[in-house]
Amino acid sequence: MKVNLIFIIFLGLWVAPLTAQQYDQFFTTQSCRVDVHFSGNTREMNVYLEKIKQEPYWGGRVSDLTPMNVPGDFRFTVTDSATNQLIYTDGFNTLFREWQTTPEAEKVNKSFENTVVFPFPKTTVRLCIERRTGFNSWELLLAVMIRPDDALIQRTGKLKVPVKVLRKPSQPSEAVDIAIIGEGYTAGELKKFYREADRLAGYIVSHEPFKTYKSRLNFYAVGALSNETGVSKPHEGKWKNSALGAHYHTFYSPRYLTSPRHFLIRDYASAVPYDAIYILVNTDEYGGGGIYNFYALTSARGRDARAVTVHEFGHSFAGLADEYFYEGGDALDGMYPLHEEPWEPNITTLKHFEHKWLADLPEGTPVPTPLPEDSAAANPAAVPASQSTSLLGVYEGGGYKTKGIYRPTPDCRMKTNKAAEFCPVCVKAVEARIRLLTGAL
Ligand SMILES: [Zn+2]
Repeated sequence: MKVNLIFIIFLGLWVAPLTAQQYDQFFTTQSCRVDVHFSGNTREMNVYLEKIKQEPYWGGRVSDLTPMNVPGDFRFTVTDSATNQLIYTDGFNTLFREWQTTPEAEKVNKSFENTVVFPFPKTTVRLCIERRTGFNSWELLLAVMIRPDDALIQRTGKLKVPVKVLRKPSQPSEAVDIAIIGEGYTAGELKKFYREADRLAGYIVSHEPFKTYKSRLNFYAVGALSNETGVSKPHEGKWKNSALGAHYHTFYSPRYLTSPRHFLIRDYASAVPYDAIYILVNTDEYGGGGIYNFYALTSARGRDARAVTVHEFGHSFAGLADEYFYEGGDALDGMYPLHEEPWEPNITTLKHFEHKWLADLPEGTPVPTPLPEDSAAANPAAVPASQSTSLLGVYEGGGYKTKGIYRPTPDCRMKTNKAAEFCPVCVKAVEARIRLLTGAL
């Protein structure tokens, strides 16, 4: 994709990693939230600053603040302006980036809300938002100096909405804190929302590798109350006045459920300390969506609810790619150019397979790997956990394409709802993110 912009090649100026002890030197216990707009079309991309907020809680990391090769099509870096030392970084994806690959983006300019959050700084910092141009190369999209005493930083205090702590086995600094926000629940349905949010949390902690780390997973239910019950279904001509403006039919893909109201979603999430946002939608229609370090959405009572809940969280929490593909194509089948190695850990174009699961492949594994002839294995729904590891290979088909993109095992939670679990490559990626967000485990 060609992008015309105010791009400047970004030169790394610092390397010294920040230790946990240095957190207190640079940051308070609150959050600095920066709201921006990603705007453009297929060919162009611009990022504009809207506002900066100080929010009451910081639920994220207090150590490992500066990993150098983060997942995501984008990353942000925070540097101390006096010393030019990198003091925080993270990767993320955007709904805008997905939209850029759709036919509509060839015809019209659009703007999408996006937010980055980091601990509130004690001294003046420089925030840079960058776009990935290669496996570990980046171009600058936006740079902004942030003075912590700037009078125009909005200090709005704690949002007054109903909150229920569902599970809190660990302190936020040592846990992955997940804010479950209700969408399409009226005030009279608050108890129903709490019940269904608790069920969502149960789906996640009963699924490996989350199950192994469940003592480090905190869940909060945030009651965003809607004027009308349910959610918008544009494909049926039905629009609802719901709290977060979520709808199916995103990019004309009927089951793709998202919300464009990202700033509003962040407002609700700020009622609790959080690392991740999960939007629970009051509907029984199948569907969902998940974007890395952005949010996940799922239908509360759709078919295969447990599988879909975990699948979407795989996207938003660990940056996992879809391992499925359709013979007839998909709205997002332009997502992964075949001449580049995607950054997502669980698919490869074999352009830089050494960055993926090459080292974990059993010796002598053919590349590409033919599907097992055994019918149970060829129908991956039937492959139990113990076998899926032994089936690690390089299977053609994934990332919405039948050819040219490869996945690690015949099936995985990121491929079908019938899969028993995540493949070993996805497990590794989820574990890495849990370890990063919870400190040394
Ligand atoms: Zn997988």
